[in-house]
Amino acid sequence: MIDLRSDTVTKPSKAMRKAAYEAEVGDDVYGEDATVNKLEETAAEILGKESALFVTSGTQGNQIAALTHCKPGDEVILEANAHIFLYEAAAFSALAGVQSNPIQGTRGAMNPKDVETTIRKDDIHFPDTTLICLENTHNKAGGAIVPLENMREIYSIANRNNIPVHLDGARLFNASVASGISVRTYAKYTDTVQFCLSKGLGAPVGSIIAGDRQFIAKAKKWRKRLGGGLRQAGIIAGPGLVALTENVERLVEDHDFAKKLANGLANIDKLQVENKVETNIILVNVKNTGYSVNQFLEELKSRGILAGAYGTNSIRFVTNYDVTKEDIEKTLVRIQEIVS
Ligand SMILES: *Cc1c(COP(=O)(O)O)cnc(C)c1O
Repeated sequence: MIDLRSDTVTKPSKAMRKAAYEAEVGDDVYGEDATVNKLEETAAEILGKESALFVTSGTQGNQIAALTHCKPGDEVILEANAHIFLYEAAAFSALAGVQSNPIQGTRGAMNPKDVETTIRKDDIHFPDTTLICLENTHNKAGGAIVPLENMREIYSIANRNNIPVHLDGARLFNASVASGISVRTYAKYTDTVQFCLSKGLGAPVGSIIAGDRQFIAKAKKWRKRLGGGLRQAGIIAGPGLVALTENVERLVEDHDFAKKLANGLANIDKLQVENKVETNIILVNVKNTGYSVNQFLEELKSRGILAGAYGTNSIRFVTNYDVTKEDIEKTLVRIQEIVS
């Protein structure tokens, strides 16, 4: 099977399995797991933040950020199609007790003026705005890169209003590799950041959150409270370290393959590529093929290709670590078969 459903479906490489096998471990709740410590130090250094914390997933990292920055009854400003808003089972309200105030953006980027006017004034009727969340790359917007300038403007508005900014950077390394802007530069315009080791970087488990020392100290307690205090976690941090130190440049390949696939699809009558493909996600409208989304996905599956549904008319392909150039060529041939 050629699996283009997500960049999370990849299997750990030999180097990762070896790193798991050989990891130096200890009880991480005691702060004694050397491999976890090394992963956290390396991540903090790469991001240019004081401190970092290994967490079980991107969702847990984002939730810990809200729990640490906010208190129940506060309000968070985020983009209307943010992963945090759409795909985290309402954890912001269920766990952190915060209310989301979504702003419709353009390709995942909120207009800074909208952010400014959405910040709550001091009024007895209003909740306090205590966090602004950004997402880069933007998942629902098809892996769109949120421009650095947009982040800079929002960060300066946030600073003027004494509101922290959290970046959901599940795919921040994709943004960095595609734009040529370092993750450190992106991280300058956010107080805290979450990125996934288990997406394009290919690790089997885990995310990192980073920020200043005080934030991470509080975050550590929230992680414990959520049941995320792990013991000999070096077994999973080892592969994470391989992902972070050896697999970043490789993302170029995912992006090249995504462009190759998108260009091929754009040349097929009856198909419309809906997004500007900047990173590893391709959205394709199949409405004119005569197949429903589910039928189209079944046709693909019967030819050895897996993709995902995206809304009522479109399907989604995500290039990843386990996909080869031949897989992309084969996928294009099979799709041509289906629509002709
Ligand atoms: C995948 C994803 C997450 C959540 O990560 P999990 O590890 O699946 O919990 C958060 N934000 C964005 C933008 C994502 O794409």
